[in-house]
Amino acid sequence: MHFERLRLAGFKSFVEACELRIEPGLTGVVGPNGCGKSNLLEAIRWAMGEGSPKSLRGGAMDDVIFAGTAARPSREFAEVTLRLDNSARTAPAGFNDDDQIEVTRRIERGLGSAYRLNGRDCRARDIQMLFADNATGAHSPALVSQGRIGAIVAASPVERRALLEEAAGIAGLHVRRKEAEIR
Ligand code: ATP
Ligand code: MG
Repeated sequence: MHFERLRLAGFKSFVEACELRIEPGLTGVVGPNGCGKSNLLEAIRWAMGEGSPKSLRGGAMDDVIFAGTAARPSREFAEVTLRLDNSARTAPAGFNDDDQIEVTRRIERGLGSAYRLNGRDCRARDIQMLFADNATGAHSPALVSQGRIGAIVAASPVERRALLEEAAGIAGLHVRRKEAEIR
């Protein structure tokens, strides 16, 4: 699977709906300070089911919604869609029926998040499972954000182990075990 398209609306500084194509291979995001590079990466992680506002540089989940500027009113919702190319059919069992997988997360102020998988409502867990099994979870080492290299160097053995498990594609097992324990 690889990321093919990213669509955002109302997410942080990306107030107007916009769509970006993501080519295969390594992608770098460049631009002047404050133009929204980190916000883009956070949009991807958020759509992948990131549950911690802190790791999205916010105090609460609603902080991902465009907060308004002197010239523009704030928005009431944010929506991000990630389209994945699954033509190689490497998605985990249960997700592997289509050439393309579209994951959408939407948040409304005060109402929390809702997720869709190829247009159908689903749970956050389903989305997290899809990515955790593919070594591409929201904390994946494939997404290198600012300060990340330093954090890895300074990480504790336990944190580094989590990183290795993610890279090895076995992080999904923990998600499944947790889910089994809840049931
Ligand atoms: P740098 O080069 O300094 O790392 P960057 O390109 O990574 O900058 P970001 O941190 O992605 O920039 O974007 C910061 C901008 O996003 C700031 O102008 C900030 O006000 C804006 N921003 C963040 N959250 C929101 C929000 N909820 N609503 C509106 N604007 C927001
Ligand atoms: Mg940045």
